[in-house]
This record gives sequence, structure tokens and C-alpha cells, in this order.
Amino acid sequence: MKRKISIIGSTGSIGTQALEVLERLGDKFEIYGLAAGSNTDLLNSQIKKFKPKKVCVSKNPEKVDFNCVLSGEEGILDIAADRENDIVLMAVSGRFGLKPTLAAIRNGIDIALANKETLVMAGDIVMREAKKYDVNILPVDSEHSAIHQCIKNPSDVSKLIITASGGPFLNKSSYDMEHSDIKQVLNHPRWKMGKKITVDSATLMNKGLEVIEAHHLFNMDYDDIEVVIHPQSVVHSAIEYKDGSVIAQLGVPSMHIPIQYAITYPERLEGIKSKSFSFSEIARLDFSKPDFDKFPCLRLALGAGRAGGTSPVVMNAANEEAVYAFLNGVIGYNDIYPTVEKIYDGYETQKLNDIDEIFELDNEVRLKTKELLSGVGIV
Ligand code: NDP
Ligand code: MG
Repeated sequence: MKRKISIIGSTGSIGTQALEVLERLGDKFEIYGLAAGSNTDLLNSQIKKFKPKKVCVSKNPEKVDFNCVLSGEEGILDIAADRENDIVLMAVSGRFGLKPTLAAIRNGIDIALANKETLVMAGDIVMREAKKYDVNILPVDSEHSAIHQCIKNPSDVSKLIITASGGPFLNKSSYDMEHSDIKQVLNHPRWKMGKKITVDSATLMNKGLEVIEAHHLFNMDYDDIEVVIHPQSVVHSAIEYKDGSVIAQLGVPSMHIPIQYAITYPERLEGIKSKSFSFSEIARLDFSKPDFDKFPCLRLALGAGRAGGTSPVVMNAANEEAVYAFLNGVIGYNDIYPTVEKIYDGYETQKLNDIDEIFELDNEVRLKTKELLSGVGIV
């Protein structure tokens, strides 16, 4: 029987690659729902090709060629929570991923999770609910997919080793970083991704977010999660078992592989790229420790993760606003970290009880960050 899947964020980098994977998988899946933000042209071509039963768009629903098109947050929740789904791929960017993820979980629907903010903002709540409703949270991000593929006996794992390509500034001087424009920041050496995550990959904030996600997904202490720079992005991450054995997952850098594994789990099906992996073609793999002085966002994110409670929410919201301000030309690359730090330092860590509290704090922090950025000189 065909498995039904909905994609929240179908027009983005992950969403479009997921549809390429699904197209190849042919009659194994039915595309049940598609939700997008504003790219109605692309959404219309996806509707024509995949004939979903439900469609949601955040802006300009009148431009979408579909009867009864849904819109806004309610529309996304409608699709995500629909029990017709066997699995929902959460490929939306930013905080919009959290509520539909919880809605799907509470209806017993498995999640293929790409959206980072879901676990960064509410990892304790989301994992608790996933356990309660007995649903799988299947990681799409290449690092977490790698760990997921390596782990057989979770209680015997002593360390997670998360690799980072190092982004476009790995071998650049502070001067180059300070004088880089948006184009240089967005020029990631290994991965073609959405703009927000690409900026986070340049500051290494992305790796900090990934450590927080890994802490929740695999229930590991922060002391037992190591970040290692690996520019070739061939080893996607590794685990160490308590007997000293290290298991890593390798492959060419392609998101098709982890996306496919998340949606076909536990089955392994033939992939999009049939070319076989070759160690001799790669020839060399490098590893080094991250430079926390050059990439202070990584240090800040790890500190926020360890602090827990409200701290990751504050860090995430301040960072997202700072990154959008950079992408909109309001601040320079070197203003991102000081902005996040200044906002982050203004908050003490508090306990978090529910999703409403998280969104209230998230809104407040975004407002404060925007206020700070409106007088750019303060930063
Ligand atoms: P993109 O920016 O490329 O895509 C984001 C998607 O979300 C688009 O389909 C966009 O629609 C949609 N969207 C944005 N706002 C809304 C909204 N309010 N309502 C409905 N849909 C909305 O991002 P990526 O695909 O790169 O990343 C998606 C998530 O996955 C992020 O959280 C990212 O951190 C994570 N991730 C991405 C990886 C990658 O390789 N790209 C790897 C690992 C994780 P539209 O374009 O129509 O406006
Ligand atoms: Mg990643």
C-alpha cells in the first residue's frame, strides 16, 4: 500500500529535494499535502505534477491553482495533523515548524524532521510528546541521520561526534570575514541550502543548533557531544561506543540520501545517485578542532544548550532576527554575533513549562532584537 506523506515547506531546498526523491520512489508514496510560504509559481507546478489532496500557502492563496486552498498557520496545522498522513516532512524554515510538528505527533503521525528550530526551541516537550504518542522523529539533517544510522544500542554509546564542514570562512582571515558581502557568506563550499541555514553555517551557529538537536534526539549529555571540523563533508558524523569502537556514516555530500532514509526508514531503497562511493577518489579526509574565537556563535549556542530552559529560545530568536537583518543588508556579517550576544546576555535562564510560554518569549526576544538593530550603532 502507498504511504501518504505531506511536505510542510515543499518549495524550499529540502522540500524540492524531497520531491525529487519521492518522484524517483514512484508508487511507494502518495503526496497527500503540500504547504509553502510565498512561491506560488513553484507550488503550482508541484500541484500539477504531484496532485496533492490538500494544499496550503502562507501568502497570496488566490494565485494557487487548487480548489479550497488552505492558508496561514491554521492551514499548515490542518495538513500536519491530518490522520490520513503516514508521515509528515517538516521542511519549513524557522519557528513555523514547531506547532505543526507537535500537531502531527499528537495525532500519532511520524515526523521526518529537517526544521531545526523545533528541537532547539522545545526539545524537551517535543521528545516527551513523541514518546507519549509513540511516534518516530526521523532526522533529515545529514549529521543526525548519520548518527541515527550508526546507533544500534543507544545505552552503550559514550560519545557523539558531529562533523562540520567549517563553512566558507574556515580558512579565511578575520579581515576577510569582516569585509565579506552577502554573496561570499552564502557561497557555502559543500551544500546548497536555504539562505538562513547557509548564514548559520558560515558563523557555525548551525553546528551549535545541531548539537542542541542531537542532545534531545539521542538523549546525550552535552559533555558527550563533540564537534569536529571536517572540510570534505564525507564523514557525516560518528558515534563512539563505550568499548572504544567508533562507527561513522560516510557518503557523498547530498541531502537526497538522508531525506530518503528518513522517509523510507527502516527500509533502504535505491538512491538517486547510483554512482558508487570511492575512498580512492576522495583520497584524503581532514579533521580538526573548531576555533571558538573565530566562530563565537558556536560557543554561545553550546552554552545556551547547556543552560537549557529559556536560553536556547532566546539565542535562537536573537540569531534568526540578526541573520535576517544581515540578509536584508541592515547589518554586516561581523554584527551578527555581537547582536545575539547582547540580547542573550540580557536574559537569565528560566524554566519553561509550555509552548505558549516559548512563543511569548520568542516574540519578545525578536522585538528586542529588532529594537536593538534599529539603532545599529549600539551593537
Ligand atoms: P528554505 O528557505 O530553502 O525553505 C523554506 C521553506 O519553508 C520554503 O518552502 C518556504 O516557502 C517555506 N516557508 C517559509 N515560511 C513559511 C510559512 N510562514 N508558512 C509556510 N511555509 C513557509 O529552507 P531549507 O529548505 O534550507 O531549510 C528548511 C529547514 O530545514 C530549516 O529549518 C533548516 O535549518 C533545515 N535544514 C536544511 C538543510 C538543507 O540542506 N537545506 C539541512 C538540514 C536542515 P516559500 O519558499 O514558498 O516562501
Ligand atoms: Mg547539517
